[in-house]
Amino acid sequence: MIRTAPDQYQEIRDAVRALCAGFPDEYHRKIDGQRGYPEAFVTALTKAGWLAALIPAEYGGSGLGLAEASVIMEEINRSGGNSGACHGQMYNMGTLLRHGSKAQKQLYLPKIASGEWRLQSMAVTEPGTGTDTTRIKTSAVKKGDRYVVNGQKVWISRVQHSDWMILLARTTPLAEVTKKSEGMSIFMVDLRRAEKSGMTVRPIPNMVNHETNELFFENLEIPQENLIGEEGSGFKYLLDGLNAERTLIAAECIGDGYWFLDRVTKYVNERIVFGRPIGQNQGVQSPIADAYIEVEAANLMRYKACELFDAGQPCGAQANMAKYLAAKASWEAANACIQFHGGFGFANEYDVERKFRETRLYQVAPISTNLIYSYVAEHILGMPRSF
Ligand SMILES: Cc1cc2nc3c(=O)[nH]c(=O)nc-3n(C[C@H](O)[C@H](O)[C@H](O)COP(=O)(O)OP(=O)(O)OC[C@H]3O[C@@H](n4cnc5c(N)ncnc54)[C@H](O)[C@@H]3O)c2cc1C
Repeated sequence: MIRTAPDQYQEIRDAVRALCAGFPDEYHRKIDGQRGYPEAFVTALTKAGWLAALIPAEYGGSGLGLAEASVIMEEINRSGGNSGACHGQMYNMGTLLRHGSKAQKQLYLPKIASGEWRLQSMAVTEPGTGTDTTRIKTSAVKKGDRYVVNGQKVWISRVQHSDWMILLARTTPLAEVTKKSEGMSIFMVDLRRAEKSGMTVRPIPNMVNHETNELFFENLEIPQENLIGEEGSGFKYLLDGLNAERTLIAAECIGDGYWFLDRVTKYVNERIVFGRPIGQNQGVQSPIADAYIEVEAANLMRYKACELFDAGQPCGAQANMAKYLAAKASWEAANACIQFHGGFGFANEYDVERKFRETRLYQVAPISTNLIYSYVAEHILGMPRSF
């Protein structure tokens, strides 16, 4: 492993590393090959309490800060695993925590903390609207003591490995609101009940071993007590959760970045071509050193975002920039890693091609790089709104 200076999170790092060591490359490779779900890995993380890091102690979690939570995600990815299988369980509950009623928090949070219930899924994206979220068409119409949902979502992850899903739907048509961000609401959806009546799940085979789906709603009934917060304020609630999500994803990318750097430095030191280690060539050294510098720089922005978030300060700029820098850095590290493994980079048994596919996703989801540029241009640099 390349040397990184010990930090104040070393105890957490050591404990997560010890757990992850029980799930070596072969485990993750086999699951990837089968397009399976790392059930045993996710269960072990849950039982050890790592996925409940952000849930306050009064609800059965460990009440840690975003910095500690991000270290957990980083270490999972640095170990060769993929937090994408379970990161929703860590941050989706933030919406409930911040905006749920006391009764909702008491009902859901302890069960999420213990792992009895999984809240791994969040349904926002729609095929017809993409990133333009305020134009979503899925509607929830109040009828008596319930809401009736009709519409469609796409790319909704971990539905088959979750008990609950947070759903964003329009409760007031776009034409009837003064601001386009108004009139949307969020609901807790009981997935197993929904599958029996009103929701159809169609898996989307994709480049990564990432369980994700199209969802079709036809008169899905949701009890009114499953509405989180006020009707019509759902989009605002959603935005409130994005800074934590982006910072945690940045940490996952940083974990990936270190994984690629660990592997490639070891390989180029050992692989002899033309009578010397390939790592002796400056053409090999430079892209690896470059990627390392980028990962370290992204790391600084990740900790800046965590520091502000944990102090209750605005951190939208830092969270977005951390996500941007980390996704870019891990991708550069991935490219250097696969390049200098030569042909072996493409062999499944080296795991490089698997991690390469996994880390590529983060330049598109959960927010594409272009949308981060727009955020920085508009909100930080004061340029005109482009959409
Ligand atoms: C594996 C996977 C898992 C996912 N999981 C979930 C999930 O659990 N829940 C969920 O709700 N969503 C999920 N998503 C959806 C994901 O968040 C979206 O794919 C992503 O936000 C981009 O939206 P889109 O695919 O509709 O792209 P589009 O909005 O169609 O955009 C396509 C591309 O065009 C560019 N673009 C678009 N608009 C602009 C603009 N104004 N300026 C400049 N460039 C622009 C961007 O580069 C963007 O990547 C997942 C996606 C994937 C691939």
